[in-house]
Amino acid sequence: MQASTEPARNLRADILVVDDNPANIELLVAILGSHGYRCRVANSGARALAAARADIPDLVMLDIAMPGIDGYEVCRQLKADAATQAVPVIFLSALNGVIDKVQAFTAGGADYIGKPFQLEEVIVRVENQVRVSRMQREVEQRNAELARVNAELLEATRSLEAGNARLRKLSESDGLTGVANRRLFDGSLLDAWSAAVRAHRQIALILIDIDQCKEYNDAGGHLAGDDDLKRVAQAMESESSMAGALVARYGGEEFSVLLPDPASTDVRALAEALRARVEFEALPHRRSVVAAVVTVSVGLAVMAPTAAHEPALLIDAADQALYRAKAAGRNRVSI
Ligand SMILES: [Mg+2]
Repeated sequence: MQASTEPARNLRADILVVDDNPANIELLVAILGSHGYRCRVANSGARALAAARADIPDLVMLDIAMPGIDGYEVCRQLKADAATQAVPVIFLSALNGVIDKVQAFTAGGADYIGKPFQLEEVIVRVENQVRVSRMQREVEQRNAELARVNAELLEATRSLEAGNARLRKLSESDGLTGVANRRLFDGSLLDAWSAAVRAHRQIALILIDIDQCKEYNDAGGHLAGDDDLKRVAQAMESESSMAGALVARYGGEEFSVLLPDPASTDVRALAEALRARVEFEALPHRRSVVAAVVTVSVGLAVMAPTAAHEPALLIDAADQALYRAKAAGRNRVSI
């Protein structure tokens, strides 16, 4: 049988032989040893438990009838201990006794062998249990390895997603002011336009331009201008922080506030609030002919888009309103 053709593999299997009868131990050790198994022996239940816990064997061959702790109890204790519960147990029946098979399997036994021992039977049953136990261990190791690889993949996916989210945010925000950039604005306007066409609702756009920014930069230097662009951008973002409004840097000194669904918003009041908020910030503007502080002109357009038109129509309307606000003396809202 296979048992005798694989002696090299058996060398690594460590069998704990437990029997209170020295003759039985001698016989089993001789049989197993001649087939390449490494054997340890114990002549009582207590010694068997101590030996199994000290060095976990690949298999336990366990006599049932022993003084003190009997074989069933030894088996129950091995199965109750996480360290030894996977070790297969083969019960050895008493010479003239009938093995209680129900009790043997209930206690956690894997198999049983009746005395007197038949050499072939002992080897086949032992080989079988060692093979099953090895396969189980391999499956457990592979499962553990799979779980580890899965966890690594999950972690890699998470950090990739976080990286992508960071990149997306970077690619969609204005480097100087931190609000949305033109690219995100263009995409959002297109989306909002299509959604409004489908839902037959209005869409609003506010364009804001800092008054006489060129003069401001010429007077204060570009860095100071950058600082104030940031302040203006933040002021507008906090002023239009209601759900759905997108503040973007539209151009050099120009900002946009897109309201994809302005039904519940008083957009005129918002446009005026944006203008007032910038004035309230009181950023010094020495060369402005409008005021001593930085001010903005605001153009507002509200439209019910149709599929026949392009979003550029809304931008044009807001731009014309902005032009009128400038022409009318700046620091004001035009609709
Ligand atoms: Mg006995």
